[in-house]
Amino acid sequence: MTTFIAVLYIISFALFIYGLMGLTGPRTAVRGNWIAAVGMGIAVIATLLTPGMGNWLLIALGVAIGVVVGVPSARKVKMTAMPQMVALFNGVGGGAVALIAWVEFRTTEGYAHEPAYVAIASLFAAIVGSVSFWGSNIAFGKLQELISGRPITLGKLQQPVNALVLIAAIVLAVVIASGGDAELLMIGLLVAAGVLGVVVVLPIGGADMPVVISLLNALTGLSAAAMGLALDNTALIVAGMIVGASGSILTNLMAKAMNRSIPAIVAGGFGGGTAVASGGSGEVRPVRSTSASDTAIQMAYANKVVVVPGYGMAVAQAQHVVREMAKLLEAKGITVAYAIHPVAGRMPGHMNVLLAEADVPYEQLKEMDEINSEFAQTDVALVIGANDVTNPAAETDPGSPIYGMPILKVNHSRSVIVLKRSMSSGFAGIDNELFYDAKTSMLFGDAKSSVGEIVEELKAL
Ligand code: NDP
Repeated sequence: MTTFIAVLYIISFALFIYGLMGLTGPRTAVRGNWIAAVGMGIAVIATLLTPGMGNWLLIALGVAIGVVVGVPSARKVKMTAMPQMVALFNGVGGGAVALIAWVEFRTTEGYAHEPAYVAIASLFAAIVGSVSFWGSNIAFGKLQELISGRPITLGKLQQPVNALVLIAAIVLAVVIASGGDAELLMIGLLVAAGVLGVVVVLPIGGADMPVVISLLNALTGLSAAAMGLALDNTALIVAGMIVGASGSILTNLMAKAMNRSIPAIVAGGFGGGTAVASGGSGEVRPVRSTSASDTAIQMAYANKVVVVPGYGMAVAQAQHVVREMAKLLEAKGITVAYAIHPVAGRMPGHMNVLLAEADVPYEQLKEMDEINSEFAQTDVALVIGANDVTNPAAETDPGSPIYGMPILKVNHSRSVIVLKRSMSSGFAGIDNELFYDAKTSMLFGDAKSSVGEIVEELKAL
């Protein structure tokens, strides 16, 4: 049986890796997800076959609760709410790891009789799992607007409190590793780590949240891998390392794309003044507005149009009508490209997924670095529900919370048309100088309706 279980685990992690390879492109992503899910199913079966498996009724109850909660929420979640969904699911993973460490502590009556590596790996898993669970819940609460997305800090006490709870968790871990077997020690360690997760994530501003979620995701992976090491469970080690490694790479890529320093984000320093939701400066300044018919005419006489999609396009679900518009422009001999900012929307790859859904040819999707040099030769930049990722303040205003974040340089185009409903700010809660630029015209309205009207006008031309 042991060999059979080992073989099942090997099959399952081979499927994880194969599935992950599928996730590298929008066209293969769904299949990749299914392959990885089958791998996870096999890993669960292998675990259930382990001799001495416990109370079947409790296991069935756990599986039933997981299915009843997980399946409908995963099916119903809106694409725009995906980051908080990821935060929640990721947090549950970290929490599960922390609970397993606790159960092992109870079963083996402390770690005194276990090899040192088991004690160290289990305690690491308990701390990191608990940090990840509580931190992810706070991240979920912020993105879901259950708690304020603004940085919630303890002021000057922040760093000392962070340091104090971290030291408390480490001291408790050392006491347990050196033979302490009182259950209160383990509970204290989990609580200290949980408080650490809360106090570290609360001061982080909404705009930095994507990076934080990715970081917590990586931490959950590492804690699972450590637990796998302690339990001698190969599938857990491999799956945990895949999550840990891919999460770390993604965190690094996102931090680079937003020009954030990961230690500074975690320390609550950089971006600390960032707020979410609407707001802006409140000052009323004139902007030039345009109509769907003028927009259609302007584009019909262009040589090159670059579509700049953002969160608003996802909200409006305008991707299909945008594709229809692009086809009409192409039929008139106009070159169309799409400028993809790595953090446009609300999750990495959000725009790629939406545009792939609408069958936009992959070669028309241009990464930020590539398209930025093309804006100078662009006649019309059509900004559809994007805001922060086009904000020149990121380059010009050192006081701006997004200062330093690389942006799509749409203001280098000959003209810019921005489609949005109002003058509301984007995710970072700040005004966008682009809207007041002499080259910019605003086409107010829901993105899907506005693009639909443009399509009708283009057909009539
Ligand atoms: P923003 O959030 O900056 O702006 C979106 C704009 O879309 C808003 O200003 C809004 O204006 C407009 N909008 C909303 N609904 C509609 C609609 N139905 N029709 C037309 N317009 C609409 O989006 P960006 O994509 O430019 O930037 C992404 C932001 O999100 C960045 O700050 C990034 O850091 C952050 N973020 C990114 C994540 C990621 O991984 N991609 C994850 C989490 C956050 P109005 O209300 O006037 O219509």
